Amino acid sequence: MDNPLREIYQQVILDHNKSPQNFRVIENPTNYSEGFNPLCGDHIHIYMNIVDGKVEDISFQGNGCAISKSSASIMTTIIKGKSREDAEKYFQKFHDMVTGVETTPEEEESLGKLLVFQGVREFPARVKCASLAWHTMHSAIEGKETTISTE
Ligand code: ZN
Repeated sequence: MDNPLREIYQQVILDHNKSPQNFRVIENPTNYSEGFNPLCGDHIHIYMNIVDGKVEDISFQGNGCAISKSSASIMTTIIKGKSREDAEKYFQKFHDMVTGVETTPEEEESLGKLLVFQGVREFPARVKCASLAWHTMHSAIEGKETTISTE
């Protein structure tokens, strides 16, 4: 029997879960936020250094499932070096993709390796895991003091 859930655990997700990128603390970050996904138990800290509107550095720490951790890892590799505006654009594009908003072929192309998370849209609980790091990054950029929760 076909198990559609298995398809969301693509190799790139397993690789990033095993060897996450930018998995460290930035001392004295310009931007920081913390996120929780109580449904799954994912807990993440996002650290950013934004200088002159550009994300000079971004990192994360925390505990969570393979989806949340790999999503955070891939997110940091994409956002690093981008402008604040582009980071927000990617947040919106990723959010649209995992929540099932229709995407054009051009948008899909620009999503690149983020497309591995497209399959989670079939699993609402997993959407929260995949988008936790993105929501937390968005909150860090906006400079909100509150801890965000997916609930
Ligand atoms: Zn999770």
